[in-house]
Amino acid sequence: MTTTIGIPEASTVAPRVYGQFIDGMMTEPSGDFIDRYAPGTGRLVARYSNGTVADIERAIAAARRAFDEGPWPHLSGMERARALLRVAEAMRDNKEHLARIEAEEVGKPIRMARGDVDGSAGLFEFAAAMAMAMHGDVHTTTLGDDFTALVAREPAGVAGLVTPWNFPLLLLAQKLPFAIGAGCTTVAKPASVTAGTTLEMGRLLNEAGVPAGVYNVVTGGGGTVGRILTESHDVDMISFTGSTEVGRLVIEASKGNLKRVSMELGGKSANIVFDDADLQDAIDGVMFGIYFNTGECCVSGSRLLVQESIADTFLDALVDRVRRLRVGQPLDDDAELGAIVHAEHMGKILEYVDVARQDGFRILTGGDRLTGGIYDGGLFLAPTIIDDVQPTSRVFQEEIFGPVLAVTRFRDTDDAIRLANDVEYGLANSVWTKNIDRALQVARSVRSGTVWVNTTIDGAPQLPGGGIRASGFGREMGQAGFDEFTQLKTIQIRSGKRSPYFKG
Ligand code: NAP
Repeated sequence: MTTTIGIPEASTVAPRVYGQFIDGMMTEPSGDFIDRYAPGTGRLVARYSNGTVADIERAIAAARRAFDEGPWPHLSGMERARALLRVAEAMRDNKEHLARIEAEEVGKPIRMARGDVDGSAGLFEFAAAMAMAMHGDVHTTTLGDDFTALVAREPAGVAGLVTPWNFPLLLLAQKLPFAIGAGCTTVAKPASVTAGTTLEMGRLLNEAGVPAGVYNVVTGGGGTVGRILTESHDVDMISFTGSTEVGRLVIEASKGNLKRVSMELGGKSANIVFDDADLQDAIDGVMFGIYFNTGECCVSGSRLLVQESIADTFLDALVDRVRRLRVGQPLDDDAELGAIVHAEHMGKILEYVDVARQDGFRILTGGDRLTGGIYDGGLFLAPTIIDDVQPTSRVFQEEIFGPVLAVTRFRDTDDAIRLANDVEYGLANSVWTKNIDRALQVARSVRSGTVWVNTTIDGAPQLPGGGIRASGFGREMGQAGFDEFTQLKTIQIRSGKRSPYFKG
């Protein structure tokens, strides 16, 4: 049983219609649109212009000019930081507007969308601090006192920012302020179904005094404008977040000018619950891990590894809580889970549930699409738990990217570590235990970019995030995330007279 709540807000509002944001200006909408129907209601909420080759080339040229001719890369870090702080303030002032767009376009609960806006503004503020503090090093070297060596940190150049649909604003904010804080100029290519806030940011950056050409946005197909952006010889680096499959295409496309790439890709994270955990905390964490953002989260704890000795009791209590979750209209303040992003994705998730049934696994709760009442016209799925999942199965191995939890039992610590590592991904894992030795042993042994102990899906601007193995490489946020958008230049200076190398 899933509790239903609220009535979708009856809206007669006309769809938002966008052109491209190039060289500091929003272009006229092209007339060739990508129409976005809200997954919660089926209502047309946005029309994005379907970008052409000419659009993406103009955007790249604008970013190239703004980098090569300045002034942006040559401003002091302090000046760039001030602009970033003004953007952060503007985001907070426009919080309700941005949150509503995210909730409508992604289908995420508005409460979470507001959190995304706050988090995104916080990333601009943190990146401002990084920009202020950007510096190189001076070295003494084995060459002697007559030599001064400078290792300067410089902006990497024109950065292409390619983002997915699940956190359009937050994932842009994990890249954009770090890129422009470092002095780069950018071309963003948002996901085709959720481009609204990426475009809205153009206006906010303009108002904050960020010069034309520093931030450009082109909407359109990944296979067209996305591919051209990643192939372009005028682009110096690509910061990509998305699926492992498309990540491979981007790496391939980047080879022409050997541009730098950073890859934030898929995941199949585990919540590992030991019998000595605080079980109430663990239940809450497991639920948060898989149902936050309706399970459409790269770090979703989509696998539960639970110790045999407590498995039955733990699952009974978990199922009881999950059945009380409130799946609701994204714009309803009380909704805890929202809608699935689009029909094709809903089909993919339901197919995984079918595969689990065919494999003989037990659906403990959920597994079906929700219909009737507030769900009519929208794409809603009951939060789902599948028990007895075998490690070799597709449901254990593959990223489902929806509110579907796969449960597998383990005997002891070694067994838990083996199971956690038995997937190709390496994004994040969480361990729940009150035994510090065990917590550290697991944290050190699981292969992932992040490990949480007695918590999950927490993040802070100060901390780098990213994956290993099929989850990618490179880091976002923290000092490491800022450094991704910089390159080092070694400058060696000799003072006094050079001692001749050749005697003649
Ligand atoms: P996706 O299909 O890989 O798309 C990501 C972005 O790449 C979109 O903007 C897409 O444009 C674009 N794209 C598609 N084909 C392209 C190509 N040939 N060249 C250049 N760009 C191309 O991913 P998604 O379905 O939007 O998002 C879900 C995936 O993102 C999941 O796998 C999830 O795990 C991953 N993700 C990872 C992280 C992380 O931090 N590790 C965070 C969030 C999500 P179109 O929309 O036009 O196709």
